[in-house]
Amino acid sequence: MPSAVWGMLFAIMKISMKYRNRASLRQAILFLSLAGIFLLASGALSQQQAPPLLVMISVDGMRPDYITEADAHGAKVPNLRRFLNEGTYAEGVVGTLPTVTYPAHTTLVTGVWPAKHGIFANTTFDPLQQNFQGWYWYTEDIRVPTLWDVAARAGRGTASIQWPVTVGAHMNWNIPEFWRAGTPDDAKLLRAVSTPGLLEEAKPDLGEYTGGIDTSGKADESRGRFTQWILEKKHPGLLTLHLTSLDHIEHETGPFSPESIAILEGIDTTIGKIRETAERVAPGRAYIAVVSDHGFVRTDYQLNLFPAFREANLITTDGKGKITDWKAMPWVTGGSAAIVLKDPSDAAIASQVRELLAKLANNPANGIDRTLEAEDLLKRGGYPPASFFVSLKAGWRTGATLEGPVLSKTLKLGGTHGALPDLPELRAAFFLVGPGVPAGKSLGIIDMRDVAPTLAHEIGLSLPSADGKILLP
Ligand SMILES: [Zn+2]
Repeated sequence: MPSAVWGMLFAIMKISMKYRNRASLRQAILFLSLAGIFLLASGALSQQQAPPLLVMISVDGMRPDYITEADAHGAKVPNLRRFLNEGTYAEGVVGTLPTVTYPAHTTLVTGVWPAKHGIFANTTFDPLQQNFQGWYWYTEDIRVPTLWDVAARAGRGTASIQWPVTVGAHMNWNIPEFWRAGTPDDAKLLRAVSTPGLLEEAKPDLGEYTGGIDTSGKADESRGRFTQWILEKKHPGLLTLHLTSLDHIEHETGPFSPESIAILEGIDTTIGKIRETAERVAPGRAYIAVVSDHGFVRTDYQLNLFPAFREANLITTDGKGKITDWKAMPWVTGGSAAIVLKDPSDAAIASQVRELLAKLANNPANGIDRTLEAEDLLKRGGYPPASFFVSLKAGWRTGATLEGPVLSKTLKLGGTHGALPDLPELRAAFFLVGPGVPAGKSLGIIDMRDVAPTLAHEIGLSLPSADGKILLP
């Protein structure tokens, strides 16, 4: 029984003792009863009108077939498998160009491709290597409205844990993904860029937040506990969470390795706990979306464009491994490389690069799948600053050292992503449960731009700036 009703009964008892006169007593009881009915009614109303809760959990690098074909891969993921029977899901999500974490996560919250939202890769283009390996960490680089923006505008509380490109985001409770040197000082940096006081407030209950560059299974467990804590204590209307350990282990050991399956099983437990908490704090109005940013391929070979560009005098070095000047520069990201010209209008350099790439692509051993020119690249929503794009086949990854061979066999088993989203292995995942979401329904193959407007629609918001469509009634 609500405490207001207990208070009301107590008040009636007190008043009946005070008022000996029966008429006054009757009046007082009538007044208090009416007040009680009003209180109960307004309580029921506020219950009814409480806005929905959306929790979007991104499992970095999770291919949908980890779940849709869990038995074939020997993965024990009961919580994620529940989404297949109880919710709506995609067989695959065709993602961003390139298929990497930061552009994809930004498409997941904006519904537009990278050329429009402004996050073109994980790392910023830094030809002279002056930015200390800086990533696209900062929200101010996002050029279009996000799910957090429209939720906040509708008066919903917004929260996020470890989501990429959220440093400086306007949210009620935010712990961004951010690191620098990987030393203990990073914890101070993270406190400085998180919502003031949030990590300190949670510390007595949860201990130190394990964030930043830590991509262990333990760190994801910690992120899960912080998520449950924020759901219970802060009651946001929208919460986004990014789990990073699966991607890390897939880079190390390849997709579907025993190590990757073990990490995913831990993530499954974390997701089960978060779902239970969300449905407890928002009964009958909780939506849980489990998404990913890209799939994964196993790699056996490495194609390193830097030595080829150096030999062609497109990159100049000082002999100590430092780049001193450049005419054309690969901007590499796992399974692909964008090529940026210092002067994009220099036709002679453009044709030199075009010939070099054609020569490399002619040798099938190099694993070049396709080379795109600027016009096609932009049409597909990727890399506005680049003049060319080189996408590798499944099995190859790009190298990033100035020295060494152009082509090599990778020494240890591993995996990557980043090539064109056309590769089926690079498709991302989408699973959704919630009130009114059709159960056991497959959407087939969907476009990543559809995710944000669909989720907004499910919780009664709209994201008109998105280019994707709403997939559910
Ligand atoms: Zn990723």
